[in-house]
Amino acid sequence: MNPGRMMDYPLTLTHLLERARRYFPRTEIVSRYPDGWLHRQTWADTYARAGRLAHALRRLGVGPGDRVATLAWNHHRHLEAYFGIPMMGAVLHTLNLRLHANELTYIARHAEDSIVLCDRSLLPQLEAFVGNVPSVRHIVVMADDGPTPAGKLDYEALLAAESPDYSWPTLDERSACAICYTSGTTGNPKGVIYTHRSNVLHALFTSLPDAVPVSQRDTLLPVVPMFHANAWGYPHMAANAGARLVFPGPKLDPESLLDLMERERVTRSAGVPTVWLGVLALLDANPKKWDLSSVREMIVGGAAAPPALIEGLGRHGLTVTQAWGMTETNPLGTIARPKADMDGSSDAERLAVRATQGFAVPFVETRHTGEDGDVLPWDGERMGELEVRGPFVASSYVGDEGKDRWTADGWFRTGDVVTIDAGGYVRICDRSKDVIKSGGEWISSVALENALMGHASVLEAAVFAGRHPKWDERPIAAVVLRKGAAATEADLAKHLEGKFAKFWMPDAYVFVEQIPRTSTGKFLKSKLRELYAGMLTK
Ligand code: AMP
Repeated sequence: MNPGRMMDYPLTLTHLLERARRYFPRTEIVSRYPDGWLHRQTWADTYARAGRLAHALRRLGVGPGDRVATLAWNHHRHLEAYFGIPMMGAVLHTLNLRLHANELTYIARHAEDSIVLCDRSLLPQLEAFVGNVPSVRHIVVMADDGPTPAGKLDYEALLAAESPDYSWPTLDERSACAICYTSGTTGNPKGVIYTHRSNVLHALFTSLPDAVPVSQRDTLLPVVPMFHANAWGYPHMAANAGARLVFPGPKLDPESLLDLMERERVTRSAGVPTVWLGVLALLDANPKKWDLSSVREMIVGGAAAPPALIEGLGRHGLTVTQAWGMTETNPLGTIARPKADMDGSSDAERLAVRATQGFAVPFVETRHTGEDGDVLPWDGERMGELEVRGPFVASSYVGDEGKDRWTADGWFRTGDVVTIDAGGYVRICDRSKDVIKSGGEWISSVALENALMGHASVLEAAVFAGRHPKWDERPIAAVVLRKGAAATEADLAKHLEGKFAKFWMPDAYVFVEQIPRTSTGKFLKSKLRELYAGMLTK
């Protein structure tokens, strides 16, 4: 047999931005600044400014493979960095602005960042750690809320001095394109290095009609921060499709988001459950205030979306679709779309499917394994650790750390405990480090939380393991009540009654103002376990 005779055309981000510039030059990129002002530019402007940025960075000494970090909100300058840095052959490192200075020090030192592009409004955060990172040679200030302080490099001044025409190098599609550190709550954060190829494949497969369909007719509002796993691929998907982008800047409160969605006629958006829970509460209080008729779909991911959220937004005519992913998976892995054979099913049956984490997008494979490492059947019952593989799943961490996260046969161990049903739908029961093991049996905290959040008085609920003298661990529920609502422990226990096996029922309830969270919006159960360590042993 002859070898194939197709061109070896590299899958790089350069193609995506060149395509956006060539075919959609006038399509807008809208960015809201901290004072509310809306900045507008086009894909053609973005391409030209990415060229200027590349010249400026080269003049500052950036070469192939060098890490250039960002500490920034979502806006057009961050988009320019998203493309300009990888397209010149350097590596974009998005720093998580919600992390503590000690973690940022560790991460920036570990990645050996050479330059940091920083929002002016975030300079205090930067200055709290950057002095401890000897590799950083320059700080470039993106003046979002006022002029760049004297003596610092100004992003706009650097760009203004350069030509927009950059002779983009032909890159190896397997070369590093971006680095993102995991938001792990135990141990040191680990760096994931994306390649041009992984980002392009992710953009292609995630934009398919049954994943996160994106077309040139869409206006996308990524609420997910650009430092969280590639902003879930939205910048790349938008360039590939030629879609319009709307960036929210630092104002992520429900009212600001709804105003922006209405004003800019947003069609698709994405964020973590907390964002959409806030939006739902505001819409419930003011059902008629916003015209959201342009919105086709919102994606929710990063943590489990309670069915009450999906149902609640549905009452306002909004479709929210759950997706699962990880920093290590670029990030999209699975998405919860009912299949065509459910077309005649009831709303309740469809909701049950939409409340799972869904089935895998093309080129992501899923399986789950038991404690002895055996691959488990897809019966919707047996709980095991989810493992994934595919061309946009990481094959190692920076510095080859955490090697035990990959199996001998090349699958990535996600650390999520799941069931998988016959249709391939994955249902997350817990993070493996958060599972509740009572008398040797697993209890799904996510299932209990979903049910509790279905109670009319409950805004949020996190169920975690309390130490128990006889059963080892027993569930405790931390509950945030809605403003002005009331519920007792007995009310909540009654609400759960009959829905679960008796031994799943929480032993105790604690009513709290808010649930502690990680920097990317997940429940921080280690903190809850620490706070209520002795609760069941007294
Ligand atoms: P990160 O790398 O910060 O994006 O975190 C990835 C982790 O977030 C996953 O391993 C899951 O534990 C959790 N996660 C992401 N999406 C979902 C989802 N839809 N439902 C439940 N957990 C999720």
